[in-house]
Amino acid sequence: MRTELIHLDREHPDREAIERAGRVIRRGGLCAFPTETVYGLGGDALNPEAARKIYAAKGRPSDNPLIVHIADPERLPAIAAVLPPAADKLMDAFWPGPLTIILPKKELVPDATSGGLPTVAVRMPADPVALQLIRASGGYIAAPSANASGRPSPTSAAHVMQDLSGRIEMVLDGGETEIGLESTIVDLTEEIPVVLRPGFINRDMLERVLGEVHLDPGLTDAGKDSGIRPKAPGMRYRHYAPSAPLYVIEGEEEAVIAKLKELALSAVRAGLRPGIIASDMTAPIYAGVLPEGKSLICAVGDRKEDRTIARNLFRTLREFDDGDVDVIYSEAFDTPQLGMAIMNRLLKAAGHQVIDAGGFFKHWEQ
Ligand code: AMP
Ligand code: MG
Repeated sequence: MRTELIHLDREHPDREAIERAGRVIRRGGLCAFPTETVYGLGGDALNPEAARKIYAAKGRPSDNPLIVHIADPERLPAIAAVLPPAADKLMDAFWPGPLTIILPKKELVPDATSGGLPTVAVRMPADPVALQLIRASGGYIAAPSANASGRPSPTSAAHVMQDLSGRIEMVLDGGETEIGLESTIVDLTEEIPVVLRPGFINRDMLERVLGEVHLDPGLTDAGKDSGIRPKAPGMRYRHYAPSAPLYVIEGEEEAVIAKLKELALSAVRAGLRPGIIASDMTAPIYAGVLPEGKSLICAVGDRKEDRTIARNLFRTLREFDDGDVDVIYSEAFDTPQLGMAIMNRLLKAAGHQVIDAGGFFKHWEQ
């Protein structure tokens, strides 16, 4: 199959192109599209055949449910069996936006979409292309991230083409995504709401709206050590992994810089080409000590503006695959606002290989 790539102006997308993409989805085909978080691989959420095609195109295990995207909150009651007050509060505060809620599902949602679970994950994205496409497609698009399973999530149409060209009908190119990390997922089927996946909407923001909010114990080190698995099936898999082994260096800033320098230099001495994920501030420090041309140093963003780190993280992980490195060392990004979401993705990419440089305080596990 030839994948058609269509460039769109994000604020004023061409109506005809959106209508054509909508027809692809209504006929049971697949079309990738931009959202404010990452690119999604869209199919008709109410058509089990389309859901099966999504799993096949991504190589995704079929017990890993898909998020249903809607463009109007009025479409929610048709697919959710119970709407607790917390759902209204979250929708008022954060929709359209990077927040997914889990609710008991209605019959209309096929098991193929919900991965056999009795619940459904729902989000209303903010991106105008996404909203118009959902409306043109019948109102319910199932869309996981549009990467091949296990690869970093795509933040541009080029990433989608790298992974899925020839496997899906169409890709809508709306430029680079704004947030760069997948949505926060909140489970509303428990008495106290539970964060199943951290994202741009952090726990503080949720607690201001809902009161007490729990963190899925399967996401924390303590939970892992006691063998508790994450409740969201997708959070159990290794993910986002670049092809070279990745280590995250944790600790107080000076200690991390010293440790990372030492590790990278000894890799070079051993004839290896190391990659380094640093902040805008620290990248020049490594460039100053490593012999030129023998390493790949990526400045991922500014710690004081941690949304820049979130936005660039997945692209940076992909760059190492193109950059031919043997081993990657990353600073930990324990920033106060998005540190929990950033570290969740980075540690998954690293398969939880952590090197402790000492003197560390974990903001994101609070
Ligand atoms: P992605 O579509 O790639 O952003 O991944 C969707 C994430 O949502 C995966 O981690 C899924 O396991 C999770 N998810 C989707 N539906 C549910 C559900 N009903 N209950 C729990 N987790 C879910
Ligand atoms: Mg994904």
